[in-house]
Amino acid sequence: MLSHKALMVPLSPSGPLFFFFFSFSLFFGLSLPARTAPPLDKTTATTVDALSHQFQRLVDAERGKDVAGIAELKRYLNRFGYVVTPEATNFSDSFDDRFSAAVSKYQSNLGLTVTGRLDSDTISSMTTPRCGVSDAPSAGPVLRSTRRYQFFPGQPRWTRSSLTYAFSPANAAPYLDPSEVRNVFRRAFSRWAAVIPVTFEETPDYLSADVKIGFYGGDHGDGEPFDGVLGVLAHAFSPENGRFHLDAAETWSLDFGSERSRSAVDLESVATHEIGHVLGLAHTPVREAIMYASLSPRTKKVDLTVDDVKGAQFLYGSNPDFNISSLAASDTSSASLCTAAVGRIIIVSLAAVAMLLVSSAAAAA
Ligand SMILES: [Zn+2]
Ligand SMILES: [Zn+2]
Repeated sequence: MLSHKALMVPLSPSGPLFFFFFSFSLFFGLSLPARTAPPLDKTTATTVDALSHQFQRLVDAERGKDVAGIAELKRYLNRFGYVVTPEATNFSDSFDDRFSAAVSKYQSNLGLTVTGRLDSDTISSMTTPRCGVSDAPSAGPVLRSTRRYQFFPGQPRWTRSSLTYAFSPANAAPYLDPSEVRNVFRRAFSRWAAVIPVTFEETPDYLSADVKIGFYGGDHGDGEPFDGVLGVLAHAFSPENGRFHLDAAETWSLDFGSERSRSAVDLESVATHEIGHVLGLAHTPVREAIMYASLSPRTKKVDLTVDDVKGAQFLYGSNPDFNISSLAASDTSSASLCTAAVGRIIIVSLAAVAMLLVSSAAAAA
């Protein structure tokens, strides 16, 4: 069985540290956490300031020049499936055409303005913690109001409609209440089950479960080593593989009210996202969607958007009990759906007017 965890090259020894600080520098400097974070301690603040300063050199780096730090960004893009150099092993600091093309592709996949330059939005995006699954290789520039959801190559899906899931007894997060973790996953699976005719049931039999969930640290034997705090948060494999891995190094949170860490990551948000991969969805450029690749710390994002629902329903069809109009009106992708619907209504109306004109002309003749 093929599973599509497209080309991943492990980070260099400096990589994890790089992402750790990158993520923190962005988090402290630019993002708005869902709850007010406690003040920075002096040591952390100094480190973050130094690294933020170092980062500013990459914003608006000029094409054709050598800029210290570009090699790390090339390693980053390569890690998530972008071609930055023919041999994919030796990354230079040169801002060459191939790197610029990879940046453009990344911007397109992440729903950013496509410039091929390292603007501040792009640097911010690259420093936000994210999912370890590679971005869709086929996603090119797409027009608004066309479909945005993506699949793994070959559009693999489960052929059965009732799936089981289980938690690895040997790879749990010891600081989390197991019954609360089970509740989180029950809710996450139920969101997808509400929109497609697929059921999910927890089983105590880990070995026979379709979806196998566990917390793993660093290199855990599947060729996709985790990188420590923030950076990559989790990954899951395409159908019908079922492996679902969370980075044990994260501070996983069930409730930001009781978990005060500034780098806390919402387990339910990540669970909902990774289940999308388990079902066969790849990353979407729609920022509000569950299947968007990145998630800032202390952020809760658990509601499926129209883009997520349409993607899942493309693969599995609709749950007969589900009504797409029940989705929140604030969903921006539903706005584009409405625009498309309005467009169709206008076309139908024009056709009706034309028919009326034709029939009245015929009556007059
Ligand atoms: Zn993902
Ligand atoms: Zn893994």
